[in-house]
Amino acid sequence: MECWRAMTQSPLFLRRREDFTCLHCGTPVRGNGYTNHCPRCLWSRHVDVNPGDRAAECGAAMEPIGALSEGGEIIVVHQCLACGHSRRNRSALDDDRDVLLELFGRPVPDPPVSNRLTR
Ligand SMILES: [Zn+2]
Ligand SMILES: [Zn+2]
Repeated sequence: MECWRAMTQSPLFLRRREDFTCLHCGTPVRGNGYTNHCPRCLWSRHVDVNPGDRAAECGAAMEPIGALSEGGEIIVVHQCLACGHSRRNRSALDDDRDVLLELFGRPVPDPPVSNRLTR
């Protein structure tokens, strides 16, 4: 069984910092250290438990469900389609304004969302 062991230890675990392909519209997103979501459709991906830690194993698409302004900044609220986890993210300068505006005024859950969503 030692041969099998060696085969599974291939160095394929490349950690890419922030770059990812949008799960929703397919746009390649270049991470700049600030954004973790697609600038076109604002969808994100469930990779963090806390912002930037990449500790979540979920990896599912996160839908932008609302936006609000807080302390002079625009916050986008994302919710994971797979596990229902919701998260607030600072919007980036190159985020699509129209999409952002559409999100404003939507009811936003107060974090943390502990109750399970039926969806
Ligand atoms: Zn997108
Ligand atoms: Zn998730």
